[in-house]
Amino acid sequence: MSRRELIQQLKSVLHFLKESDFIVLEGDRERITSNAPSRISSQKSGLEEIASRIAKCRKCRLAEARINTVPGDGPPDARLVFVGEAPGYYEDQQGVPFVGKAGQFLDRLLSGIGLSRKDVFICNVVKCRPPKNRDPLEDEIQSCEPYLLEQLDILEPRVICALGRYAAQTLLRSRQGISRLRGRFHTYHGIPLMPTFHPASVLRNPGQLEAVEQDFQQIAGKLKESQD
Ligand code: URA
Repeated sequence: MSRRELIQQLKSVLHFLKESDFIVLEGDRERITSNAPSRISSQKSGLEEIASRIAKCRKCRLAEARINTVPGDGPPDARLVFVGEAPGYYEDQQGVPFVGKAGQFLDRLLSGIGLSRKDVFICNVVKCRPPKNRDPLEDEIQSCEPYLLEQLDILEPRVICALGRYAAQTLLRSRQGISRLRGRFHTYHGIPLMPTFHPASVLRNPGQLEAVEQDFQQIAGKLKESQD
């Protein structure tokens, strides 16, 4: 066998070992660990386990009037995670986040950056509907927040988008208003986090639309960067 043939054979053995995950070359480590089916299934079961604890949760008064808990929805290996405020009427009825008017608007914003709901994980700071859609209270946020932090720990997204004041202030441990926080990346446990206006707020204040679209463009750019 010539030297050239030997090299060719070694290359094909190496290719076979790589493709069957017997070995991980340094440059491939991230690709394999982030896409490995076993990792996705452990993320999925981790998220399901949190959802089943949320379904039984009675840590605050919001448990009394809820129809459904709304833990969150989306692929466990989503690279982008949205965090909203709290479920509203339709979310409470269906147990799924952002299915009302604000959700339809979020879908439009997503399609503006070439994404759809099936590409992203969506959840809220508070997992049960506050009565008459009032703002969540401080103690309700405090009771519910650990679920969100556990979800983000499992998801390990490339980018987080905090929709509105409650999500941004909770994740960033900040008291600043959303107008001051939005428009630039902050960091949550090493993950880039973009706060932006809540879709429901944009529907009420169309003047915020341009800013939100700019924030979404920045998110798209960051996702692209993290792929390169
Ligand atoms: N607004 C939110 O913040 N979350 C939802 O799930 C729906 C509306």
